[in-house]
Amino acid sequence: MTPFKFRLLKNIIFLLIFCFNTVTVATEDPQQSSNFDYDYIFEQGSVWIDKDIITKKDPSSFVSLEFIEEKQIEWWDQRTWKINEKQYETTNQKIFFNAFIFRAFFEKSHDILIRVNSEFKTQKKAEKQAAIYAKIYGQMPNFLKERARSLTIHKGNFGWLGGNEDVIIYTNLSRAHSEEAMFHELTHVSLDFQFDGSVNENEWRNSILQDKYYITRYAYDYFFQEDIAETTLWWFATKCKPNTVSKKNYNKVIKHLPNRLKYLDSQDYDFYPVVCE
Ligand SMILES: [Zn+2]
Repeated sequence: MTPFKFRLLKNIIFLLIFCFNTVTVATEDPQQSSNFDYDYIFEQGSVWIDKDIITKKDPSSFVSLEFIEEKQIEWWDQRTWKINEKQYETTNQKIFFNAFIFRAFFEKSHDILIRVNSEFKTQKKAEKQAAIYAKIYGQMPNFLKERARSLTIHKGNFGWLGGNEDVIIYTNLSRAHSEEAMFHELTHVSLDFQFDGSVNENEWRNSILQDKYYITRYAYDYFFQEDIAETTLWWFATKCKPNTVSKKNYNKVIKHLPNRLKYLDSQDYDFYPVVCE
C-alpha cells in the first residue's frame, strides 16, 4: 500500500467519523433502491485528481487578520482519536485545547474566526498559519462561505474535516491540494444537507437516481456523507475552470453527471472572487 493510498484511506475513515457525530445516516440508499447499475468515474477522492483547479495564483478576497486572544476552546482534533473501525462512533470526542484566536476579514463576505492550536507556540507563528489559510479560504467562491463561522488549524498530516460551520485543517497535508481540500470541506459546511446546507436533499437524491453515476468511489461508497462535496468540486472545475482539467476528465464528468450539474447550475450562486465563464 503506497503512502498516498494510506492517506486517502485515512481520509475516508476520518471524514465518516466526523459525519457520524452529528447526523443520523439516511436509511434509503440510491445504490440499492433500484435495479440500475451504478458506477463511478474516478477511483481516487475528487480532491486528489487535479491539484490545479484552484492554485496560489488565483485571486483571494482575504483582506486582513486581527488578533483577539489566546484562550481554551473545545473542538475536534482527530490526532486524539483512537481509531477502531468497529467502534468508531464512540471515538470522536471533542477535546479542550488552547488556541490563538484571530478574526479574518474578506471583501464581499462575512468575517470568520481562525483558531490556531497553541502548539504553534507564538502569536506570530500562529498568525503566519492563519494568514496562509485565510488566503485560501478567500479564494473560494462566496457561495461556499455562507455558513462558515471558523477555521481550526492543527499540526499533523491528516485529512481535513468540514461541517458544523467550521473547517478543521492539518497543516502537513499536501500543500498542492490545499485549495481543492478547502473547497471540498466548505461544501460540507455550506451546501451539504447533512449539515443543514443549502442543497435540497430530495432534489439531490433525484439527481443521483437519474444520473446513475457517481463522481468517485468515495462518493459511491458514502453517498449520503460525501456525494455533494465530491461532486461540487468537479462541477465547479468543468463550469469555471475547464482549462485546468484534462479534456478526457472534463468529458466524463459532463457525460455522466448531467442532473447534478444542472441542479448546481440552477442555484444562482455568488462566485466572487472567482470569475466564472
Ligand atoms: Zn467530505
